[in-house]
Amino acid sequence: MQGQNKGNLLLYFALFNFTVYNFIMKKIVISSCLLGACTKYDGGHNKKEQILKKLVNMEIISLCPEVLGGLPTPRPPAEIIGGDGFSVLKGNCKVLNNLGEDVTENFIKGAKETLRICLDKGCQIAILKGNSPSCSNKFIYDGSFRGKKVLGLGVTAALLIENNIKVFSEEDDLSGLF
Ligand code: SF4
Repeated sequence: MQGQNKGNLLLYFALFNFTVYNFIMKKIVISSCLLGACTKYDGGHNKKEQILKKLVNMEIISLCPEVLGGLPTPRPPAEIIGGDGFSVLKGNCKVLNNLGEDVTENFIKGAKETLRICLDKGCQIAILKGNSPSCSNKFIYDGSFRGKKVLGLGVTAALLIENNIKVFSEEDDLSGLF
């Protein structure tokens, strides 16, 4: 009987620790390329040391929406044509790569998968790479493949924001997050 009580106490203690851990640990989704993973379209990364140094006492969920959407690395660069992430999600415009191939479904799949992971993990915050047709929270390229940026969100950033997840980029003031 004493052994059983001790077992129950250990179980309660483990459950208590698990609950406290889940409550106090800030969970944060981050574009994998910002952490140094070579998931960028050209096979490179966008590692940002200043972000890496601040990621203490946080549960980091590193992901790349385009890879989650089934695209290979490296891959041809893609841009949203005639709209932004919100209009892609509504079916009003497409994402094409510079070979003219339609990769809209891959971008939408990657966005949905990212949202699913956020919801499963109870994650309310994401730091996503700026200027990306998937990840950007502010500017995207205009669809001409000439390096011209316009105001607009990427497909994944738009879907997360529609679902009340806060999206920051590496260019934002992140001091309040850490
Ligand atoms: S989709 Fe986002 S995470 Fe993936 S390489 Fe592009 S910017 Fe980085």
